[in-house]
Amino acid sequence: MLRSVILAASRSSQVERLVATAPYSRDVVRRFVAGAATDDALRATRVLVDDGLAVTLDHLGEDTVTPEQATATRDEYLRLLKMLAGAGLTPAAEVSVKLSALGQMFDEELAYDNARAICAAADAAGTTVTLDMEDHTTTDSTLEVLGRLRKDFPSTGAVLQAYLRRTESDCRELAYAGSRVRLCKGAYKEPESVAYQSTREVDRSYVRCMNILMSGDGYPMLATHDPRMIAIGEDRARWFDRGPERFEFQMLYGIRPEEQARLAGEGYTVRTYVPYGDQWYGYLMRRLAERPANLVFFGRALVSKK
Ligand SMILES: Cc1cc2nc3c(=O)[nH]c(=O)nc-3n(C[C@H](O)[C@H](O)[C@H](O)COP(=O)(O)OP(=O)(O)OC[C@H]3O[C@@H](n4cnc5c(N)ncnc54)[C@H](O)[C@@H]3O)c2cc1C
Repeated sequence: MLRSVILAASRSSQVERLVATAPYSRDVVRRFVAGAATDDALRATRVLVDDGLAVTLDHLGEDTVTPEQATATRDEYLRLLKMLAGAGLTPAAEVSVKLSALGQMFDEELAYDNARAICAAADAAGTTVTLDMEDHTTTDSTLEVLGRLRKDFPSTGAVLQAYLRRTESDCRELAYAGSRVRLCKGAYKEPESVAYQSTREVDRSYVRCMNILMSGDGYPMLATHDPRMIAIGEDRARWFDRGPERFEFQMLYGIRPEEQARLAGEGYTVRTYVPYGDQWYGYLMRRLAERPANLVFFGRALVSKK
């Protein structure tokens, strides 16, 4: 219920104005977002990489509505990749890209062209791209673009969401050699016709999908903060004899940093997803929807005078 209300608010421009102008929003945003500028993203990446973590960087922005916006997003990624390579931060840092930010909503071919340019730049910089997954209406289109990109850039990563009923089947299709697949639970509000609704069903699906990916031939990227899913991931890594070069854990910037450090300290590959940019509202609201404790923290910061 609370989750639905927050996800509905994530689409409201009135709530966005309220949140953006609240005096202490900035402090809350900083916990989950590296900063507004490319330099902020680079600084955060440097700290994480020095701590032994891998990174994937996301330039915040979604639901782009004009070709000019889509081109600007593409250009920001091209700039970022050049700077990462120049700073010696590749291949430890790669990038995560939302096709909706590249024009998918109004011109799928434009989104493909933009994504292709980013993949080429990542390749030149010695690193990779992962295509984030958005709501279920975009899944087929995103997987189709992924397939086209992989013809020239086979290391392009996919994201599959365990809450979707179709995902076990998608995992089977994508568990082939060289295929990088991030498995997450899923962050959008989806109808029962396409998605499991209860935590228990989603968790069970996550484990089934993890089993398929970890027993397959691809490179699984287990994106979760859930202690149970992480423990099962560690167990499956032992069972299927997957060392740190054959799978990784992924978590979001600012969420369970001690757990990220613990896993890295135990020799696992751990990648932190680092968002940056000024379009943080939708991203922040999805994080709040995931965890009521974050909402309390957020509410306190919004009304606090100090
Ligand atoms: C690297 C990465 C990339 C992602 N990419 C996508 C994407 O492309 N598309 C998409 O739809 N979604 C994406 N997500 C979001 C994902 O789908 C989930 O919404 C999000 O990760 C929350 O699910 P969870 O597995 O962490 O567990 P949840 O079910 O949210 O939480 C389970 C348990 O984890 C622990 N936990 C969770 N958060 C915290 C916290 N803040 N502090 C302490 N403990 C906590 C608690 O014990 C909690 O009970 C991504 C997530 C990650 C980590």
